[in-house]
Amino acid sequence: MTIRHAACSCGQLHLTIDGEPVRISMCHCLECQRRTGAAISNQARFRREQVTFAGDATTWRRKAESGNNLTFHFCPTCGSTVYWEGEGFQGYVAVAIGSFADPNFPAPTIAVWEESRHHWINLPPNTPPKHAAKQG
Ligand SMILES: [Zn+2]
Ligand SMILES: [Zn+2]
Repeated sequence: MTIRHAACSCGQLHLTIDGEPVRISMCHCLECQRRTGAAISNQARFRREQVTFAGDATTWRRKAESGNNLTFHFCPTCGSTVYWEGEGFQGYVAVAIGSFADPNFPAPTIAVWEESRHHWINLPPNTPPKHAAKQG
């Protein structure tokens, strides 16, 4: 099995993940743009039992447009959001792809909220167009 490590900027909050993600997506929504400070959010979803959590996290919760709560876990020292959980995907953890600091991490295959996509961001080939599940 592949073991991967995800961490915040300062390294205090880190995850050890065993095995492959079940879903890799990109989200163009304005909420993700504010949260990341970037024009796009990319995340990989894993089953919770694949993930070993270490370090301290502060949480922030918001309601998604679906009405489901999303809980973001970020480092209280450096502020990086490393992972989040949602009522819409219970039993799973979404991990920010950038936290792996691995340019060879597999590409997203799902794009959501394309209506707020920055015009200069091109989708990878084979990205399906719209997707029903708008939960990043
Ligand atoms: Zn940190
Ligand atoms: Zn989003």
